[in-house]
Amino acid sequence: MGRGNSYSLRIVFSLLSSIGLNLASSAEEAPERVIEFTEVTQYLRQSHLGREILGELARHQKGERKIRFARGSISRTDSLLTRAYHQSTGEEVREREVTLILKQQGSLHEIALDLAHELVHALREPMWDPYDPGLTLSQYVDRTILGPGGEAEALLFECQLAQELSASFGDALPKRCSFTVDLYSKQAFSLLGREFYKIGGWMPWITKVWPHSSRDNVAKKFLDQSPTLYSATGGAPYPVSIAREYLELTKSACKNVRRRLSSSRSPASHATKELDFLDRRCSDLGQNKADFE
Ligand SMILES: [Zn+2]
Repeated sequence: MGRGNSYSLRIVFSLLSSIGLNLASSAEEAPERVIEFTEVTQYLRQSHLGREILGELARHQKGERKIRFARGSISRTDSLLTRAYHQSTGEEVREREVTLILKQQGSLHEIALDLAHELVHALREPMWDPYDPGLTLSQYVDRTILGPGGEAEALLFECQLAQELSASFGDALPKRCSFTVDLYSKQAFSLLGREFYKIGGWMPWITKVWPHSSRDNVAKKFLDQSPTLYSATGGAPYPVSIAREYLELTKSACKNVRRRLSSSRSPASHATKELDFLDRRCSDLGQNKADFE
């Protein structure tokens, strides 16, 4: 479907992934050989949950918006959002391109768990719209952790799968899965969700970034207990990495919106929405920037 003489604004954001425990580096030897994608899927097919998620992937790939796959040093899911406008109609067209990057180094078991974790992110609809004028830092952090396809759901699925594979093949459970007692209990999701909010020594940072934390329902969730989960991509507890990601995302979105507003090609019908976005999302950005460091 042609989009005519439209122009687009691109914004990229990535879901944090690859959880480490207390930043402890694994002493396990990583094989030199790159494990092929087909080996990983064959391994996953030997478990019920693995077949379930691969089945979901197969159904998804029959649709228009296919997930792309790539290899890299760290597993993560990237989303590229493109907004384009028809010059004649002024109609906004959005496209979201999802790339799942799977790490190259590690054991078959580790890589298979990574793939399952990232698929939970990649297969779900986006939890927020980066151009939503009302998207707050709190909403962004909470949805990224607890929303559909968020970190808690991905970790719960990964750990259930790890348990199933360990029962069949005797692989040890990853450390990040060791704190939950019963992964199939009703409380498993909320207990896991709480783990993500343990930030310990980062509490002062949080109160700087959330100046109204006592009145904010999300900021109230933070726990002054030693973190058990760290984002490998951000090298900090999840809420900290996600808050930084929000700042980066907002900076890009503000830049794009300013650029578009200054362009003569900007459809007048969208200007009100864009100005609202600038007012609510971009005005105090510079002021808060240092707090995120
Ligand atoms: Zn993740």
